[in-house]
Amino acid sequence: MLYEFCLAGWNLDDRVGGKEKFGGLRCYAFSEDEKLNTEIQEIIRKYEYLSVKTCEKCGSAGKLRVVNGWDITLCINHYIKDISVIHIKDDSVFLNDGFLFKLSEIKKIDTLNSFRGMQVYLSGDETYISLNVRNPNYYLLLRSLPLHLFSEEDGNKIRLMFENLEDCEICGYKALWKDHCLRCNEEPWQESLLEDYEDKTEYVKRSQMLLFMDQDSYEEVSDFCDRSFEKTENYRILFNEEEFKEFEKDW
Ligand SMILES: [Zn+2]
Ligand SMILES: [Zn+2]
Repeated sequence: MLYEFCLAGWNLDDRVGGKEKFGGLRCYAFSEDEKLNTEIQEIIRKYEYLSVKTCEKCGSAGKLRVVNGWDITLCINHYIKDISVIHIKDDSVFLNDGFLFKLSEIKKIDTLNSFRGMQVYLSGDETYISLNVRNPNYYLLLRSLPLHLFSEEDGNKIRLMFENLEDCEICGYKALWKDHCLRCNEEPWQESLLEDYEDKTEYVKRSQMLLFMDQDSYEEVSDFCDRSFEKTENYRILFNEEEFKEFEKDW
């Protein structure tokens, strides 16, 4: 940016103020020369815009994210470092690179919040390990666990859940169970939504655009590393680029 300032004719001895705010660059510079000032303000706008699209660790394409309550612009590779991803290799379960437990060592598992969380008890240990849907591959783990480790009621429900998954028209994965999608969390179309939407197409299209906007990066992370669900074959994206731009503007 400063290089472009110089090209425009800026004297580098003059002060340029800058800081980071809400994960992006803020820059303050002013010239009495009206023409130069216009150019400088344009360069600043360009870099402020680029700063929320550029990973502040490596310079790759990035996106504004929230990490521990702070706004920060990161690429997916740097963002993912702050997320605990479940990996299953043979009998072993890992959280990122850290070994967590062996499937064969599990004594019992309690579930929470309609299977959105679990507490894993290991043999010879009174404490438990907590995992939940915020850990990518959570459902992959849930469907890999022997059902006898759960209470009989839970075991039956989990079996029924994975046997009866339906296609989600919003995210395009086979992850719909009863009244919501386990992957994108959206609810499937139903007549009662006619109160708020003209028809099914409008509802699905709007939900797809919201998902595509992906303000919490959830979709991007799932795409990047979650292998819990299969893609559906006849998934159709109902919006086009123009419609998305309009939608994003009005948001
Ligand atoms: Zn990066
Ligand atoms: Zn979905």
